[in-house]
Amino acid sequence: MSNTMSDTYTTTATAPAVTPSPKKPGPLVHTDRFDTPIEVDKPLLRTIGLHKSYRKGQHIIPVLRGVDFVANEGRITSIIGQSGSGKSTLLHLMGTLDVPDQGEIYFEDQRTDNLPIRQRDRLRNGQFGLIFQFYHLLPELTTLENVLTPAMISHGFFKYWGVRKQLKERAKHLLDMVGLGHRLNHKPRELSGGEMQRTAIARALVSDPKVLLADEPTGNLDRQTGEEVLGLLRKLNEEQGLTIVMVTHDQSIADQADSIVRLAEGCVETV
Ligand code: ADP
Ligand code: MG
Repeated sequence: MSNTMSDTYTTTATAPAVTPSPKKPGPLVHTDRFDTPIEVDKPLLRTIGLHKSYRKGQHIIPVLRGVDFVANEGRITSIIGQSGSGKSTLLHLMGTLDVPDQGEIYFEDQRTDNLPIRQRDRLRNGQFGLIFQFYHLLPELTTLENVLTPAMISHGFFKYWGVRKQLKERAKHLLDMVGLGHRLNHKPRELSGGEMQRTAIARALVSDPKVLLADEPTGNLDRQTGEEVLGLLRKLNEEQGLTIVMVTHDQSIADQADSIVRLAEGCVETV
């Protein structure tokens, strides 16, 4: 896991605008104005003028109508909005699971929405960890096997075979970290909702992603279990500098992020 807190960046002509953060320390940036590097917000994931519509029979349903969004490195950004406001759509577009009708998406300084499919897959497998409201664990696999699945897919069978021991150790370490070191051989049906989501978080981290994209990660959990899962996400953010973009319809969950973006009428209102 990279620790972004200690990374050092040098500004270039195309560097994003820098905004000192009032909250947590951000990446260090060298500027012309100061002798020593300063802590700033650095955009990691960004969308510009994003449009997306779905077709349902004869009807076209506009969902996103020009969404400008920024998630800064090392921060938790929450996306809040009513059911049907396009939160999942936006998250899926940023996670390269779908393409917009119009607009641009950037990860770091790379435009991602127009990449060929293979490059999008590689980017997603290598840089993005995805978690969902209903966990999406494979029911026939154990906790440990579920966590290893993305690594198997991204390495391919032969390469995976060569590094399976290290990956298994990493998966065990991650399961330990999310408090499931004692549940390695359990199947999803033998786990509680909170344990399934913690397994999904460990699975999302196995490829050492730069950003975690979480779609209603507490949406199917009772309040206390939801708070525990959120506490785990905050711990990952604070201790490892993991950037998190989290979709929720729950204001009290959204309030715990570093910044909140509200989706309404297909556009964003920064809160
Ligand atoms: P949210 O996550 O905020 O609840 P979604 O992004 O899932 O909202 O959906 C936004 C709107 O787009 C909803 O009206 C939904 O019915 C519609 N929608 C989402 N995905 C599809 C799809 N694949 N085909 C048709 N309509 C869709
Ligand atoms: Mg949704």
